[in-house]
Amino acid sequence: MMDTEPPYTTDVDRDQRAREYETLHNRLYGVRLGLTVLLVAVYLLSGSSAELATGLQARFGAHWWWTNAVYLLVTFFAFAALLFPLSWYGDYHLEHRYGLSNQNLNGWLADYIKSMVIELLLGTAFFSVIYALLHFSPHWWWLWATGVYVLLSVVLSALWPVWIMPLFHSFEELKESELTAAMRRFVEAAGLQVVGVYRWGLEEKSETANAALTGLGRTRRIILSDTMLDNYDREEIIAVLAHEAGHYKHGDMWRLMAIGTVLAAAGFYLADVVLHALVDHFGFAGVAEIGAFPIFIFALLVFSVISMPLGNAYSRRREYAADAYAVQATGSAEPLVSALTKLADQNLADKEPAAWIEFLLHSHPSIARRIQRARGEKTD
Ligand SMILES: [Zn+2]
Repeated sequence: MMDTEPPYTTDVDRDQRAREYETLHNRLYGVRLGLTVLLVAVYLLSGSSAELATGLQARFGAHWWWTNAVYLLVTFFAFAALLFPLSWYGDYHLEHRYGLSNQNLNGWLADYIKSMVIELLLGTAFFSVIYALLHFSPHWWWLWATGVYVLLSVVLSALWPVWIMPLFHSFEELKESELTAAMRRFVEAAGLQVVGVYRWGLEEKSETANAALTGLGRTRRIILSDTMLDNYDREEIIAVLAHEAGHYKHGDMWRLMAIGTVLAAAGFYLADVVLHALVDHFGFAGVAEIGAFPIFIFALLVFSVISMPLGNAYSRRREYAADAYAVQATGSAEPLVSALTKLADQNLADKEPAAWIEFLLHSHPSIARRIQRARGEKTD
């Protein structure tokens, strides 16, 4: 494999830029959350939500299913439109300002519209089913809703790499080579007989590198970005692959799904309590009234802010475990350390974010902590 100089350097300037980039993204997260809560409050308190629901009820009459679906579609579309400037700023402007994207505005807009259509349709379908459950089972709907959530998670996980991801990037199974033979040995050592390793075409749009274990059952696969395959050393690529194989070996997709299920049940239960407590106060006839949707969303937003650190804490533990597996499988911490350092530099990851930021927002431990752990310098 050719060893070319990477298009970035490990330097103080780059670390400084990474810290700025991290700070801007954290602020953006806060602004987006605050603005969303504000919009939800205005939607409810101004009576716009009730007005839209009443208007649709007059049109669709007994066909409440249609009232709900159209209400949801219009609502999600309006929120996406109002939050569009933040999407543009975070996903296009900042990415270009920090040299992480080489996609032009038209290309970005096409991708944005594609993902928005997918999100609007999925969101409308999901909450239409939830509101049907609220209609038929106003006290136990949250339990059924958890079941629907699990089903949707499983189906989406299985379909994501074959239906959704190819809409945005090209994927190609790696051709047989000395590297893939070496990869296969590591994958099989993790107890995984058949798994495809795919070249993930990021280069066309992005300057960043990434790798992941995706899919479920027959669609399960390890994907490695072209930006990594072409620029990282063989040992580094093997170390990243071994980390992903570690996630498989440990059943991390199922573990995270189990945690997600518990959190979903708790979130829907909280929404149930809040809806029953507040619908009367705001003049709605019952919990299944679609006009009360802002109350539902408000409860879910509050719950997600509380529960995200829990989910993230668990995810970070799984990352450490996958790192430990990679170190043990490759027999050394150094290839992983080297790959993590390169990834952080290339993707402008802040190597040592503030501990409270990591606690609240990060699903992955900071690179500094991962390196310390991998080298056995810290074992807490
Ligand atoms: Zn991982």
